[in-house]
Amino acid sequence: MDAADAPTLPLSFIIPVLNEGETIETLFNKITAVIQEEQLGGFEVIFVDDGSTDTSWQRIDELAEAHEEVRGLRFRRNFGKAAALAAGFQEARGKIVFTLDADLQDDPEEIPHFLKKLDEGYDLVSGWKKDRQDPLEKRLPSKLYNAVACRAGGVKLHDMNCGFKAYRREVLPHLNLYGELHRYVPVLAHAEGFSVTEIPVKHHPREHGVSKYGWKRYIKGMLDLLTVLATTRFLDRPGHLFGGLGLASSSLGFLILFYISCMKLIAGVAIAGRPLFFLGILLMLLGMQLISLGVIGELIIRFQRHDGSAKIIERTDDKSTHTVEPASSAS
Ligand code: UDP
Ligand code: MG
Repeated sequence: MDAADAPTLPLSFIIPVLNEGETIETLFNKITAVIQEEQLGGFEVIFVDDGSTDTSWQRIDELAEAHEEVRGLRFRRNFGKAAALAAGFQEARGKIVFTLDADLQDDPEEIPHFLKKLDEGYDLVSGWKKDRQDPLEKRLPSKLYNAVACRAGGVKLHDMNCGFKAYRREVLPHLNLYGELHRYVPVLAHAEGFSVTEIPVKHHPREHGVSKYGWKRYIKGMLDLLTVLATTRFLDRPGHLFGGLGLASSSLGFLILFYISCMKLIAGVAIAGRPLFFLGILLMLLGMQLISLGVIGELIIRFQRHDGSAKIIERTDDKSTHTVEPASSAS
């Protein structure tokens, strides 16, 4: 089944798993309890084992034997959370697709709140760990990182990288998740024209196992942000990305050189050995290089085919293409 196909179930839950053997069953039971209590209809839970070396796969296999709603996918090795989500998206049969972390930090009780928000017409609802139950050294850099990433990505969220999200199925084929791009799902969806919002969610401390990401995530995350910006906002105008940086650099270089030239002409100050002189030249040259890079980028995309039809959401000659329906009509 491909995400582009018609859904055959109201809800899918996709859960990436890396060494979370102790929490898998509890998480499934919690999801089931909420679905039954709220009478949300048919559902499936897809666990994607991303190369676990503990008992995770046995737990998933046992659960799949016991419950027809459960399916398990196992990776040959650890390919990362983005790959796990992408594999789950391809398998999902639900009209609405949820993603949750496997470590019980996300609370399934929030499921109805996500559905309510989707009913308002949003395409993607992301969780916001407002009262985040992680150590301070994780919360502080995360706040800064979110502020930069949201501003650069053009989305107004507090928490970009919460694992708990709900998607209308239509969004999935447009998210090309690989590497560690799962952190930028809201930016990717927003860039494709989908409406994105967030709701505050309960967040629990991790009680079993260990976090799979350390401080390095922020360095990698910032590099990935550049990739995301280059492949979304600036995909069809690389000249603006590189040209903008280049203009800024060469303008600064020009101002510096202008300033020291004036000093030389007016006050007769020697400039040849001054660090400012070299900085000015360096910035001018860097700026020219960046602008040239932008021109080369523009030349490359000039010869690519640009598919306008992929951007169409609705048309007068075929009413069936309109995709925005209330989420609750799924059940
Ligand atoms: N995870 C994964 N593959 C990885 C790293 C993490 O499938 O390479 C899963 C992990 O098992 C968990 C979720 O992604 O279900 C989030 O990971 P974690 O809880 O370690 O992240 P944190 O809460 O520390 O941000
Ligand atoms: Mg976690």
